[in-house]
Amino acid sequence: MSTLPLVLNAFAEEQAALELPVQSVPAAALPVPNPTKSFWIDTPGANPLAKEGSEGALTHDADICIVGSGITGVSAAYHISRLLSEQGEDGAGAKGLKITILEARDFCSGATGRNGGHLTPAFFQGVVGYSALYGTDEAVRAIALEQHTASEIVKLVKDTGAEAAVDLVEGGHTTLLFTEPEVVASKADYAAAQAAGINVSDVKFLTKEEVKETYGAEYPGIHTPGHNLWPLKLVTHLYNLTKQTLGPDLTLHTNTPVTSIAAISASADSSATTASRRWNLTTPRGPIACSYVLHATNAYASHLLPHMHGPSGIIPTRGQIIALRSAAPLAEITKSSWDGNEGFEYWFPRPLAGEETEPLVILGGGRESTRPKFELYTVDDASVNPVVGETLRKFLPAAFPGKYEPGREPEMEWTGIMGYTKTRDPFVGPVIDPAKPDAYKGQYIAAGFTGHGMPRTYGCAEAVAGMIVADIAGKEFTVPDWLPRHHLTKNRLNE
Ligand SMILES: Cc1cc2nc3c(=O)[nH]c(=O)nc-3n(C[C@H](O)[C@H](O)[C@H](O)COP(=O)(O)OP(=O)(O)OC[C@H]3O[C@@H](n4cnc5c(N)ncnc54)[C@H](O)[C@@H]3O)c2cc1C
Repeated sequence: MSTLPLVLNAFAEEQAALELPVQSVPAAALPVPNPTKSFWIDTPGANPLAKEGSEGALTHDADICIVGSGITGVSAAYHISRLLSEQGEDGAGAKGLKITILEARDFCSGATGRNGGHLTPAFFQGVVGYSALYGTDEAVRAIALEQHTASEIVKLVKDTGAEAAVDLVEGGHTTLLFTEPEVVASKADYAAAQAAGINVSDVKFLTKEEVKETYGAEYPGIHTPGHNLWPLKLVTHLYNLTKQTLGPDLTLHTNTPVTSIAAISASADSSATTASRRWNLTTPRGPIACSYVLHATNAYASHLLPHMHGPSGIIPTRGQIIALRSAAPLAEITKSSWDGNEGFEYWFPRPLAGEETEPLVILGGGRESTRPKFELYTVDDASVNPVVGETLRKFLPAAFPGKYEPGREPEMEWTGIMGYTKTRDPFVGPVIDPAKPDAYKGQYIAAGFTGHGMPRTYGCAEAVAGMIVADIAGKEFTVPDWLPRHHLTKNRLNE
């Protein structure tokens, strides 16, 4: 067995780093210009909405402003439009609501356009730790959120015939267990999930020999159902569906950063329209007045919400990816997506394109080689970290001898900024600053997905969209069974 070029069992050290208080680090800056080029964004033709609404007239008035055009912001717009159409004619004034999405850079150029492309829900992972912190019911909900989100995305893609458009691959997911503590922890999680009544019938533990025979790596593993896809294309599809429903009531302004948000006070010089709104958003292209704001800014949330800076809020954390051509055909690499080393590394082969015979493998990870910093508190996705790059280059040839050529250079390499929280849970709901509880009425947030957003964002966006639509209609929002109560902002005030 070759020696892995990885720092193993670093999860606990990363957790400690997430909880460290910060004095000297500033709150998140805006997304930086000229980010590294990612496979998803910079493949020609992949981002038709890249510059949408970046020039010409700016929308100056909207009912709802969504800040951020990643999967969370666009999913929220999609869910709001869906909920509004379901309300029909007697939708308590909801019909004709105007939604504006504001994006600092090109469309979907944040984490969603730079991630690993996995749509892998948890089936049992983390149940022991989650139960210990928040109780078994919450652990069951944490799994339910991921199952709900992933299955709803797959259903939507299939129902709208978009499988090819978003490159949906149903290849399953394999976790490699490199160390004995990982094996022990996984078995404990599995047993706890089973005891809690979670359906684990699709989970298969694999022996080292089974993994070697099927995949060529000499480690035990776990196989679960799972998909991979082209995240930017999924978000483009969601935007187009929303546009079909809302027409001109949906506007998108890319390259339009929101630099501050201030309350509108009725004053003599306010126009009649502005005076009926609650919030004024400042952008370099002019102001936008609106009644509701959704912060879908993930890693960058603390730029507009300074109280969310630091370990009790959202920590911008840089992830790095390489696109490496394998040396073996797809049949040997298999269509499975993968993770290993407590989730620090994750990879999957792209479907073959054109004349290709060996797949391009998208591999992310390597942050643990920068410990004790773990790439925390940086929004710089315009550069790569050579230490991380070296770990990524060495990993697959070592883990799968013969299937990857040692020393082969990746075809692309990029970074993206994740939004970490110390509990690894997102914040979902009305914005609440414990020091000023009533200061943000009408502002909501769904952010802090901690590098595991594909099976959570769309579901959390559904919940926050439901809260906004209920508030507009003057109704109580019923929290869905599948949403962990610990994700709700009102339950996070003491962190
Ligand atoms: C390298 C990397 C690998 C990952 N791999 C995976 C994976 O394989 N599977 C998985 O489940 N998750 C993965 N993730 C995490 C996942 O991509 C995120 O959780 C998810 O994309 C978050 O979506 P979002 O819409 O909340 O945030 P984002 O996609 O980051 O969108 C936020 C948007 O807000 C914009 N913005 C920020 N501030 C402002 C402002 N003031 N004004 C206007 N616009 C603003 C940003 O430019 C950005 O486009 C990965 C992330 C990274 C970076």
